[in-house]
Amino acid sequence: MSRLVVISNRVAVPKARGAAGAQGGLAGALNAALRKNGGIWFGWSGQETDSFTGAIDRQTSDDGVTTATIDLEHRDIEEYYNGYANSTLWPLFHYRTDLTEHERQFGKGYERVNELFASAVRPLIEPDDVVWVHDYHFMPLGDRLREKGVTNRLGFFLHIPWPPTNLLLSLPYHERLVRTLLQYDLIGFQNDTWLASFLHYCENELGASIDREKGSVELDGRTTIARAYPIGIDYDHFMAKGETGDARQAQQRLMSSVRHRTAMIGVDRLDYSKGLPERLDGIARFFDRHPERTKDLVFIQIAPPSREDIESYQNIRETLEAKAGQINGARSDVDRTPVRYVNKGYSQEELFGFYRACKIGLVTPLRDGMNLVAKEYVAAQDPDDPGVLILSRFAGAAQQMQDALLVNPHSPDDIAHHIRLALDMPLDERKARHEKLIVTVREDNVLRWTDNIIGDLEGLAR
Ligand code: UDP
Repeated sequence: MSRLVVISNRVAVPKARGAAGAQGGLAGALNAALRKNGGIWFGWSGQETDSFTGAIDRQTSDDGVTTATIDLEHRDIEEYYNGYANSTLWPLFHYRTDLTEHERQFGKGYERVNELFASAVRPLIEPDDVVWVHDYHFMPLGDRLREKGVTNRLGFFLHIPWPPTNLLLSLPYHERLVRTLLQYDLIGFQNDTWLASFLHYCENELGASIDREKGSVELDGRTTIARAYPIGIDYDHFMAKGETGDARQAQQRLMSSVRHRTAMIGVDRLDYSKGLPERLDGIARFFDRHPERTKDLVFIQIAPPSREDIESYQNIRETLEAKAGQINGARSDVDRTPVRYVNKGYSQEELFGFYRACKIGLVTPLRDGMNLVAKEYVAAQDPDDPGVLILSRFAGAAQQMQDALLVNPHSPDDIAHHIRLALDMPLDERKARHEKLIVTVREDNVLRWTDNIIGDLEGLAR
């Protein structure tokens, strides 16, 4: 077994809420892998420093996991994190060329921080270590490590979608970016769609030879393995959260407040990729078509703010406040509002209780690498009386969750139609769908995911 070096933008703090808690399952799985293999988790501390020193803050937790973090300067955070990562790559890779910013300084900051990271982590890498780099923040990092003489097995996992070639061509220096990525030995994607787009680019734009059976890309005498590894939730851990007092209280609290009405829930970071305005349009359409049901349905949208320094995120927040206000203004009564729009984060225990209390889970991103909320919603259902998952066909999770009600998240009519189907679905059908969905949620869990990727990395010839 090889020692593991994990590199990601942030080193996860267990039990954090809201946006930081978004790493909950992943953090747990990576911690478990680090406990098993030994090694180190390297990343940005989240702190700003006046002048970058490269000093590493090294800490070992009680259960033996070592983290190493560095602070970054204000300019680096602006250009690399808020800039290139979250204002260029994130929108483009979620197919939003309209929101993609192309600032020269962002690209330079991204390159600079990848170089800083490579220099800082280099001395921590021992000869037989397996190095596993996470996400769009660090595509060129493997190449920088190679330049510094690292010959170790290097793996990369992309947590977000990979865009179609025609969209990627709009990114200045796209070719350089993808070529650096090919310095990794193994590249993982969330599903076959993103993998196929990546292979298409490599074949058509770089002239690489692709072996789809083996999942390999060969260019200039180097071979990189490219495969789909769909991430899952930490099923057992999540189910244990459902047994807590916090979960039960949250369920009770929600059920007693909705009384005889059916509750429908959405849980998403406030992000334009999540299709929230379109979702509210779909709900408004449902109420327009079925005014007699306005008093029977309550929609709860939990939307903790994220990336608030970026303008497009401020805009989506305003749009949603206006839309939720319009729906409620037109359809509320003195004793009820059809939409509860909540701008704060909850613990996963509380979310478990909320999911369980809601007979419909509405997960309609316009584009999403995977979407774990869909899997958590299914996990939290009572198998004897399960709720219905309505899932965007453009979420990475849709590939594994064909027994959900799959919708087109751009179409208010389609969303409205599926809300009605979900409300009227008989118990037998709900159970049959849930029985199939729960298998992938339970089996394809995050522990299996880390094992698969680390196993494949360890199995690579050196
Ligand atoms: N989450 C949370 N508290 C909240 C909202 C979300 O802990 O108030 C968690 C949620 O349980 C899920 C994660 O955040 O595990 C969101 O993951 P997902 O893949 O759905 O979307 P992402 O935010 O990574 O784009």
